[in-house]
Amino acid sequence: MSPEKGETGRPAARRVGVFGGTFNPIHVGHLRAAEEVREQLGLARMLFVPAADPPLKGRDEEPLAPAEQRLAWVEAAVAGHPGFEASGVELERGGKSYTVDTLRVLAERHPGDRLVFVVGCDAFRELGSWYEPEVLLSQSDFAVVTRPPTSEQEGLRDWIPADLQADFAFDPDAVLETAHHGSAGTRIERVAIPGLDISATDIRRRVRESRSIRYLVPEAIRESVIKSGAYAAAA
Ligand code: ATP
Ligand code: MG
Repeated sequence: MSPEKGETGRPAARRVGVFGGTFNPIHVGHLRAAEEVREQLGLARMLFVPAADPPLKGRDEEPLAPAEQRLAWVEAAVAGHPGFEASGVELERGGKSYTVDTLRVLAERHPGDRLVFVVGCDAFRELGSWYEPEVLLSQSDFAVVTRPPTSEQEGLRDWIPADLQADFAFDPDAVLETAHHGSAGTRIERVAIPGLDISATDIRRRVRESRSIRYLVPEAIRESVIKSGAYAAAA
């Protein structure tokens, strides 16, 4: 594959995906979404970045497996894919995991690469409640993947928080609906993927009820997820 030329005539930067999440635990829905985005956007690599102490999670009754355990599952899940990589960057830092800080650190570690933050539309819709969302959208490109029950008509206009839309110009004719940041040069792309209605919430419930999670999580981590006791039952 010959490198794409950028607007300046120089080879365009490699695009590297950053897939953040709680991954409590990682499942096949995450892996397929990452693979679709990697393929559709031609990403050179995909980093999976589990949150150490997610600011928006753990306030409810839902059990959260220890960060080291969630990272180990991510490592095992991506081990067979040459383009996928687990990143412990949020565990190294300690404290609350803010995506703005993570992207700052990863940008330093990947000079010359163009980062693309990958997020499902359900999470992206909540961007207004994240830390410094307007900074976030000017820091890196975003790839927003569809997730059931998204309809085909839903797009970035529905998902970008209303008060942040003014920063963007929309490109409705693009194959993937695209929004361009007016001043930062970043863009947001909607990536439509075949829906897999799989969630970690459902997997935790199945473990709790001693039901099968076969083919919902990679086989390499299935027993570990059950036996860890992180979501109770089994042991
Ligand atoms: P939970 O039910 O605990 O919220 P989850 O399955 O939503 O877990 P997260 O770790 O919250 O998993 O998600 C990490 C990222 O992956 C989010 O951006 C989310 O939208 C996306 N994602 C998770 N599952 C899917 C799926 N089945 N299809 C597309 N995107 C997904
Ligand atoms: Mg979620």
